[in-house]
Amino acid sequence: MIFLPPACAGGFTFATQMPFQMRIDVLTLFPEMFSSPLSHSILKRAQQHGIVDIVVSNIRDFTHGSYRKVDDKPYGGGPGMVMMPQPVFDAVENVTTLSEEKPRIILLSPQGKKLNQPLVNEFSREKRLMLIAGRYEGFDERIRIGLDAEQVSIGDYVLSGGELPAMVLIDAVVRLLEGSLGDEQSAAEESFSDGLLEYPHYTRPEDFRGMKVPDILLSGDHGKIAKWRREQALERTKTNRPDLMREKDNK
Ligand code: SAM
Repeated sequence: MIFLPPACAGGFTFATQMPFQMRIDVLTLFPEMFSSPLSHSILKRAQQHGIVDIVVSNIRDFTHGSYRKVDDKPYGGGPGMVMMPQPVFDAVENVTTLSEEKPRIILLSPQGKKLNQPLVNEFSREKRLMLIAGRYEGFDERIRIGLDAEQVSIGDYVLSGGELPAMVLIDAVVRLLEGSLGDEQSAAEESFSDGLLEYPHYTRPEDFRGMKVPDILLSGDHGKIAKWRREQALERTKTNRPDLMREKDNK
């Protein structure tokens, strides 16, 4: 993870070439929020192993005035403040030049299409993503229109900012990149990968407070285990997420 230093804002030469599978640029007013989530476990390893390059830039570094103003009152009145177009456009235009690859620009917004596994799969095939996190009442509408950005929501609820949604998207995408997970099969078998929830897991001990591991998992019969797991996945999808079953049946 790289935090773009303020000195780089405007006319900089800081650039990463593309040996990475993917580059993800994040534009935010709170870059520090990203340091911990991006510094652990799979996300940390994926960056260390050159799988993904994540570059976090502060939109405030692209303001023009000495007050470094990024928001203003809404025209027409109403509560709160709105993110102004100039700093966001300047940030996008400058950061875009830092790599040859053209980014797919995503505005995190509760009004966007909902993030799900098929959309995550689609994003994971891109070479470069640029995620823009909103704050306050959100973006001036001309940001979406002028940047031709797609809006993505992580669910039907409103958060205070786009940073957590950006982290959710990054985590979901990076774990699909080749080499990110120790065992590639784990992503292939997980919930939603084939439109179903995953089967139940058990580990040691065989008997915990009278709750036993199903005999079939101890049988060593891989054919029977695979069949049992499939049945369990179908059963729990029917119970927990009938909407997913309907979607699957309609395909
Ligand atoms: N006034 C906006 C509305 O009603 O649609 C909500 C603005 S929200 C307080 C501030 C920022 O948080 C948004 O610009 C967006 O970047 C982010 N955000 C909030 N909820 C989100 C969600 N469910 N998915 C993605 N981003 C979200």
